[in-house]
Amino acid sequence: MRVVKKQKLNGSDVRRLITEAIAASTLDLPLANTKLSQAWDACLRGNLKVPKLLRVIRCKKCGVLLMPARTASVRLIEGRAIWRCGSCGAEKHFRYA
Ligand SMILES: [Zn+2]
Repeated sequence: MRVVKKQKLNGSDVRRLITEAIAASTLDLPLANTKLSQAWDACLRGNLKVPKLLRVIRCKKCGVLLMPARTASVRLIEGRAIWRCGSCGAEKHFRYA
């Protein structure tokens, strides 16, 4: 049996995966989720800083892509944006303004 060594990805690969995930989200949501988890794994394995965009668009609990009005609902309350995941119900709070 051939052993396949996993290739280490760098920061530009992570950005590319995030861009591809967003592009794929309109047509193929499972593919978008796969690319998002690949980007997340690359950050953890390569000890890279997780880009802010990835922290915002990925659900912390179940790992799916959060797209406002499609896979997440967004409410604006008292200077905070509250993103609620459509598949697990987890919430994220962001300050704005
Ligand atoms: Zn979730």
